[in-house]
Amino acid sequence: MAALAVLLLLVAASLAAAVEGGAAWSFWPPPAGDDPYCLSWRVMVEANNAKNWRTVPPPCVGYVWRYMAWGQYARDVAGVADQIAAYAAQLAAGDDGLDAWVFDVDDTCLSNLFYYQAKQFGAYDPVAFRNWASKAICPGVPGMAQLFQTLKGRGFRVFILSGRDEQTLASSTAANLAAAGFASYDRLIMRSTDYRGMSSVVFKSAMRRQLTEEGYRIRGNVGDQWSDLQGDFVGDRVFKVPNPMYFVP
Ligand SMILES: [Mg+2]
Repeated sequence: MAALAVLLLLVAASLAAAVEGGAAWSFWPPPAGDDPYCLSWRVMVEANNAKNWRTVPPPCVGYVWRYMAWGQYARDVAGVADQIAAYAAQLAAGDDGLDAWVFDVDDTCLSNLFYYQAKQFGAYDPVAFRNWASKAICPGVPGMAQLFQTLKGRGFRVFILSGRDEQTLASSTAANLAAAGFASYDRLIMRSTDYRGMSSVVFKSAMRRQLTEEGYRIRGNVGDQWSDLQGDFVGDRVFKVPNPMYFVP
């Protein structure tokens, strides 16, 4: 009888804590640290419900590192690559050589994880990022170079479209892509001085318009930011590579 009373007391206490906690409508298992909050935050980011955030929320810095470095990110990227390969396998690239894919660079082909981890996923700093990117030491995002080979093997053109500054980062970006195994792309398109200061959506829309006017049919478009995938001439299908590290408008 005493045991039953204690049990009822515990249930009542956990219900009260759950109600008091507001969002904590899960009674078992107990939350582990900040992970439930941070997982919800990451889902909001990936779904593009959270916009214009400048930094990872401080309680989630450790969570983002664990997500990125401990295997889940690599699994999620592999899932994206599988979806791309499955979709591409259904397409027949025309003999005219005009069926194309567009890929972003940063955190789509080349990973900036070590740069952002070193600054604790802090706000975007153009000078520091340029210094990092000019070193040309980004590792490849897992599986992406292989995906290039698959798409090329199926007869597609692959264009790399980056908001990186062309004047200062063209040679280091090309060298980094080559070092990370991205040798098979058709053209690297970067932000010329004419497009400095413009949003990624505006710049990338203009570049995709040019490709379209050259006659290319953009069958797929791959990026880690929604701003890679929105705007004009986005392509027949877009694929979002996960990135909970930063937001580019
Ligand atoms: Mg990117």
